[in-house]
Amino acid sequence: MTDTMTNTTTNTGTGWRFSENASLRERNTFHIEAKARWLLQIDALGALPEALSQPEWRDAPLLPLGGGSNLLFAGDFDGAALAFNARGVRIPEDGDEALVRGEAGLPWHDFVRWSLDAGFCGLENLSLIPGTVGACPIQNIGAYGVEVGERIETVEAFDRVERRFVRIAKKDCGFGYRESIFKHDADRYLIVAVEFRLPRHAPLKLNYAGIDEQLLAMGVATPNARDVSDAIIRIRQRKLPDPALVGNAGSFFKNPIVPQALAFSLQMRDEKTPVFPGDSADTRKLSAAWLIEHAGWKGFREGDAGVSPNHALVLVNHGNASGAQIMQLARRIAASVQEKFGVAIEPEPRVIGATW
Ligand SMILES: Cc1cc2nc3c(=O)[nH]c(=O)nc-3n(C[C@H](O)[C@H](O)[C@H](O)COP(=O)(O)OP(=O)(O)OC[C@H]3O[C@@H](n4cnc5c(N)ncnc54)[C@H](O)[C@@H]3O)c2cc1C
Repeated sequence: MTDTMTNTTTNTGTGWRFSENASLRERNTFHIEAKARWLLQIDALGALPEALSQPEWRDAPLLPLGGGSNLLFAGDFDGAALAFNARGVRIPEDGDEALVRGEAGLPWHDFVRWSLDAGFCGLENLSLIPGTVGACPIQNIGAYGVEVGERIETVEAFDRVERRFVRIAKKDCGFGYRESIFKHDADRYLIVAVEFRLPRHAPLKLNYAGIDEQLLAMGVATPNARDVSDAIIRIRQRKLPDPALVGNAGSFFKNPIVPQALAFSLQMRDEKTPVFPGDSADTRKLSAAWLIEHAGWKGFREGDAGVSPNHALVLVNHGNASGAQIMQLARRIAASVQEKFGVAIEPEPRVIGATW
């Protein structure tokens, strides 16, 4: 069906295409060279069942791929990578609180800015997070005191078990800190669109890490949602390496949730240890960035694999690091945090081709 050696794209059905032996280097923000045996591109969402049912890859592993900003390829993917190109936006219900539907392939930040231009608010604190609308529910993206699950009404997906399109209400999405049912049942749901409930007026969330100061520096005394978005863009540009310039996947480790007793004993050792509420009364959340920095890893570099000098939580590819080298570095960091603090940390991105 295709010329394997030249990795050409073949138009097969209406609304979908595929190529073989496809390079994923431009499709992951670590810029790691890895190949997928097949790359399926879905241009029209209705074409998905036909594309999936082709005998060559029908029974092969499937990897839905958005912007590749939360993935580490530690090897090639011997299966079908699936990219959604559909980027439509609709407003099925308008009013003081509108329902806004975005298709999976829309770049997340473009969608946030579009929503602000259209007079909606609620997503401003999530500005400049890389990736796509289709991936935003997977780990319930969060930043600056807001998680996207707070704004999601329904997730539309193709259910690979029932082989039909389904609508999953927010209450059934299992949203938690960097969590959802989609993350745990990664082989079941292919998210094709997300519906958001967005108000036209809502209180702004400004009480988080530096937003107030940034607004002040911008000379904004009475901010609107767009101003908050502008402020967060500037803070993030200052703090986080731009994946277009230095390969990375944002925060590489999740903040660990630990028993309250362990958090307190760490605070006894060093009163500056940051401790936040956990997910229950007897747990606490620690800052993975603080632990990694205090284990001495900030700015570390070995070959092209390293830790950002500005943010200890961000592992970087300075050029030609392989996914296996990034993974090896991640394992060394986790082992040293475990040894120094007795705390287990684990990766936030999905790792392909290796297990943690
Ligand atoms: C510089 C930088 C900063 C970041 N900051 C933040 C932050 O502040 N907060 C935060 O939460 N995250 C952050 N991230 C992580 C990342 O941007 C988000 O997790 C984002 O939602 C990933 O989107 P993506 O389209 O790139 O998904 P990908 O990386 O392509 O995929 C991630 C996971 O979702 C699955 N997936 C993708 N699309 C679909 C689909 N349509 N259906 C089913 N499964 C799918 C993939 O199989 C994979 O398991 C950051 C990343 C970078 C590089």
